[in-house]
Amino acid sequence: MEKLLDNYNSVLGNIRKIKNNSPSFPEDFKLIAVSKTFGENIISKLLEEGHRVFGENKIQEAENKWSNLKKKFKNIDLHFIGPLQSNKAKKALEIFNCIHSIDREKLVKKINDIFGCNEELKSKNHKFFVQVNTGDEEQKSGIRFKDTIEFVKWSKYEQNLNVVGLMCIPPITQDSTFHFIKLKKLSDELELPYTSMGMTNDYEQAIKCGATHVRVGSAIFGKRR
Ligand SMILES: *Cc1c(COP(=O)(O)O)cnc(C)c1O
Repeated sequence: MEKLLDNYNSVLGNIRKIKNNSPSFPEDFKLIAVSKTFGENIISKLLEEGHRVFGENKIQEAENKWSNLKKKFKNIDLHFIGPLQSNKAKKALEIFNCIHSIDREKLVKKINDIFGCNEELKSKNHKFFVQVNTGDEEQKSGIRFKDTIEFVKWSKYEQNLNVVGLMCIPPITQDSTFHFIKLKKLSDELELPYTSMGMTNDYEQAIKCGATHVRVGSAIFGKRR
């Protein structure tokens, strides 16, 4: 447990160092602590430390853990970072206030249908990131790079989805920096305020490339089983 707080403080320290050397460090920067596979006891330690921003990648797992944790801790900022099936969209909107994996028309339409008949859910003002497959990898989620501009504009202006930024997971075999720069450029071109990029192995690079949201799991919680 002590290790957890050491890990957490060391990630915060690394981020602070970059911040101190960067005049353009984003004011609303978020460290998303990716707590997938870890249980309520461990997550509680970080909540007790005052951290409030967390990420999960599975709806079922998140529902169980976070319905309990939300009773004990207030102002939790919960981000969904995994692939989202349309039939789980409603659950996702109930549990999470931010979704990082918007990547196809069917999903956007489904979310709008849900909002259309649920004012209460709609009034929570969810934030959405469009996930971009920057490496155009066959098996990976995310919209193709070349289709991104059109898809974001359609989602944002024709479907009125609250798209706030772009997200990517670079190919594991390549240097992430190339992908981070590519995503940030596209995000600027679309005048979106946020970019969700960077994980345990490359969050510092991502911040230097302009990430506003980094998703860090194992550097904080340790290895997942
Ligand atoms: C698991 C996961 C992370 C965190 O990964 P670490 O390498 O443990 O930091 C970040 N983003 C997504 C989409 C993930 O699924």
